[in-house]
Amino acid sequence: MTTRKYKELVQERTRETLQKWSEQPEVKEKDIYRFLHNLKGTSGTVGLEAVEIFSGNALLYFSEDQQRSWTEAEWGDYLYPLLGLFDEPARKGAFPPAAPGSALSPGMIEQQYEILIIDDDVELVAYLREALERSAYYVSIALSASRGLKLFYENKPDLILLDIMLPDRSGIDVLHQIIGKAKKERIPILIISGEHSREVQKHAYSLGVMDYILKPVDIDLFLALIKNRFELKQEWQDSIIVDELTGAFNRKYFNQTMKQLISDYRRTGRIFSLALLDLDYFKHVNDTYGHLTGDEVLQSFSELVRQSIRTEDTFCRYGGEEFALFMPNTPAGQALLVMERIQDSFAAREFRARRDSFLVTFSCGVTEISGEEQDADLLVGEADQALYYSKSNGRNQTTVYSGETMQGQRDTQLNVIIVDDDPLIRRIITGNLSFWEPENIAGIQVNSYADGAQFLKSDWYIPEEKYIILLDGVMPDLDGLEVLEKLRAGYPEADILVVMLTGRNDQRDIIHALQMGADDYVIKPFHLPELLSRIERLAHRFLF
Ligand code: GH3
Ligand code: MG
Ligand code: MG
Repeated sequence: MTTRKYKELVQERTRETLQKWSEQPEVKEKDIYRFLHNLKGTSGTVGLEAVEIFSGNALLYFSEDQQRSWTEAEWGDYLYPLLGLFDEPARKGAFPPAAPGSALSPGMIEQQYEILIIDDDVELVAYLREALERSAYYVSIALSASRGLKLFYENKPDLILLDIMLPDRSGIDVLHQIIGKAKKERIPILIISGEHSREVQKHAYSLGVMDYILKPVDIDLFLALIKNRFELKQEWQDSIIVDELTGAFNRKYFNQTMKQLISDYRRTGRIFSLALLDLDYFKHVNDTYGHLTGDEVLQSFSELVRQSIRTEDTFCRYGGEEFALFMPNTPAGQALLVMERIQDSFAAREFRARRDSFLVTFSCGVTEISGEEQDADLLVGEADQALYYSKSNGRNQTTVYSGETMQGQRDTQLNVIIVDDDPLIRRIITGNLSFWEPENIAGIQVNSYADGAQFLKSDWYIPEEKYIILLDGVMPDLDGLEVLEKLRAGYPEADILVVMLTGRNDQRDIIHALQMGADDYVIKPFHLPELLSRIERLAHRFLF
């Protein structure tokens, strides 16, 4: 028999099964499970790729050892889409397979490039996101210029796709505002636009955009182009050691210095201290005075530190507004005095913006290499714990790491809350998260609620803690969008990231969710590893 014949047989059998089930009042969950399980194996074998992927994903919703039964209204949503997949040549119509190295493999995040799309054309955005994520990029989305600017500063994407026409202000305005910084931070900007005018294109190029891609987008060409851009970016990055915005050394140089100092210490016993510095309430500076002012503060801060240290010290930009200072031949006690002196002079510096003047401070954690301990991660971890201690103790201060007092201080505790009326989804996600051990997160607390009203009424919120909330779009009482609205209106946005779980093809839901401040969305029925990798990615935002 030919493969084609087999395919038809599988299709026929599937149709018959669903037909039969639709005539029964209920179907046992274990029957559904076995059906999907078999279908997955068979369809894969005969080359029905779309069916294979779909049934594999759908399997996540059913369990072999459940006593429960399903009505057609319940199982229909999960199984009927199957019938449309038999004529599908490849993956179209099935969910995107998880990006390689999904949530369950920690350490992946460092290498996965993040692309920020600033575009209000939701269909296109959703399509691009799917294509890009299939190529293992991570995508964040802004439907408006203001949101785009915020994500640009907060997420530090590796590449930006920008639409020229945006609802709140034109893409050209956005371009003016970010191009300088994007160049400094080596972030390529690609314009995607339906605006074909030569003048506009010329103008965009003259401002420094890398590429101007006309809509409609040819996805294969587009992916090839992006790959080139990332290669170029990598070359850039390999060739520089100074951060252009602040004049501090960059993260790569930080790593080199660390290696060098540790090996010196091993060879000669020459000690050094490491300080980590993080500006206090810096988001507030950005939100109140704008990101350009924020950048000026960063520059001024860096300048002050560089003027205050000795030539043998090395000052690096560790992350967005986090810096590191190596002080060779300096015990921690002495480093403490240095840092406190810098803290005093920085706190006294007055900044001006909008006829207003304001002050900024920073917090610091110090540790000294000693004894047997000779490991970079360990040192950073200690300085980080001490920094965290300074933060929680009132900020604008320096703390020297000491093992006993700080045991377990820096426990980034992450709360994940699932609000979904589907008990299976709650069970699957809760079950999987309990095995999950992402890097840098000490503990995960998972809670779930069957409806929005019940969730909001509960005393789920503890100030200063970090939350990732998975919100079902459609729920009987309060739907997900209403819950989202209440979350954004009543709680600090910085501590709460929201992922909307939305029905397939419900573009209007996606638009609304993103407009109302959702941080991400996942289309149901979703692929579990994909969801986990999204959660992990978002959790990462809390760590800087
Ligand atoms: P905390 O005192 O707890 O540190 O509060 P914070 O607001 O400073 O919180 P956190 O350190 O998490 O905030 C980092 C913010 O720094 C997020 C981002 O908006 C901002 N940021 C990061 N890089 C840059 C940058 O290059 N320029 C500007 N203007 N802002 C940046
Ligand atoms: Mg800060
Ligand atoms: Mg920070």
